[in-house]
Amino acid sequence: MAGKARMQHTKISKIAKIIKKYHNFIITSHTNLDGDALGSELALYFILKQMGKEVKIVNQDQVPYIYKFMPGVEEIICSAKLDKEFILEIENDSVLVVLDSSNLERIGNIPVKTDKFSLIVNIDHHPSNTKFGHINYIDVSSSSVGEIIFQLSKELNCEITEQIAIPLFAAIVTDTGSFRYANTRAETFYTAFVLVKSGANPHLIANQIYSNNEISALRLLGDALLKTEVDSNSNIAWTIVTREMFEETNAKEEETEGIVDKILSIKKVQVSVLFKEIIEGKIKISFRSKDDFNVDLFARTFGGGGHPNAAGCQLEGDRDDIVKTVIDRLIKALNT
Ligand code: 5GP
Ligand code: MN
Repeated sequence: MAGKARMQHTKISKIAKIIKKYHNFIITSHTNLDGDALGSELALYFILKQMGKEVKIVNQDQVPYIYKFMPGVEEIICSAKLDKEFILEIENDSVLVVLDSSNLERIGNIPVKTDKFSLIVNIDHHPSNTKFGHINYIDVSSSSVGEIIFQLSKELNCEITEQIAIPLFAAIVTDTGSFRYANTRAETFYTAFVLVKSGANPHLIANQIYSNNEISALRLLGDALLKTEVDSNSNIAWTIVTREMFEETNAKEEETEGIVDKILSIKKVQVSVLFKEIIEGKIKISFRSKDDFNVDLFARTFGGGGHPNAAGCQLEGDRDDIVKTVIDRLIKALNT
């Protein structure tokens, strides 16, 4: 533990000091918002508000339907809803806090100019983080950025209100696959314990995230499962969601959540892959693994990244060629 603590270049107390010193904050996170990105943003928003700070959350993408229950979502400014040319004016001496993003490109097109900030603070848990901030707090042993924001709230002696507990619990639940993934540690349960004591209701939160599907999402899952291929020599499974499948089922882009995890549950399968056609010629790929195979390192060979057991990348080209190239390369990697 001491060794790990020493490997941190920045201490959480330094982040707390910066927060105390500055007054104006903009918080952002990555495109394709997930529970950890949104939950961490909203919790930090309410922590800063509690301290009397000026704070705004800006994102490229809209809040997916399943996360709309989180307190404060209506305050989030989103590029997708704004005039293309709109740029938010920021005060002098403003701080940009970037959460859950392994590099600065991951935040996409947000309506602020990143070079206008006095300071960029980068808080993340991805091993591939490029340390793009002036201040970087990267804890790869943390299950989620939510867990880091919880530690920060302690450092700031902040009261964990329900508005903070709910998004933090949602962040942790989603990034740990409901406390099932290898990133779940004793500290995760301790944090969850405090959050539940502070007003996060696990049952209600789980219902909002996992039992709130449109039938279209289930039809898309059904189609994707029917198309699933398994290579039982290499123990991999993969499937594709094409534009045609989105149109036939009437499902939304965000409704592919969970497909790649479902096919990883096949007996003996060690690695699963989902190919998702965003637009013709552009494929988003998700990788999941059960044990030792490091999909973060594998995704990096395609310009992506993530965590050892969950990673992704984006490729452009013919969809059948992309599927073949990635699966061939994966089979090779698994057999060497
Ligand atoms: P998902 O497959 O759910 O989109 O992402 C799984 C993990 O991989 C997340 O931690 C996510 O941030 C990361 N990830 C997904 N796509 C990319 C990508 O294109 N580049 C990088 N660096 N990370 C990605
Ligand atoms: Mn995360």
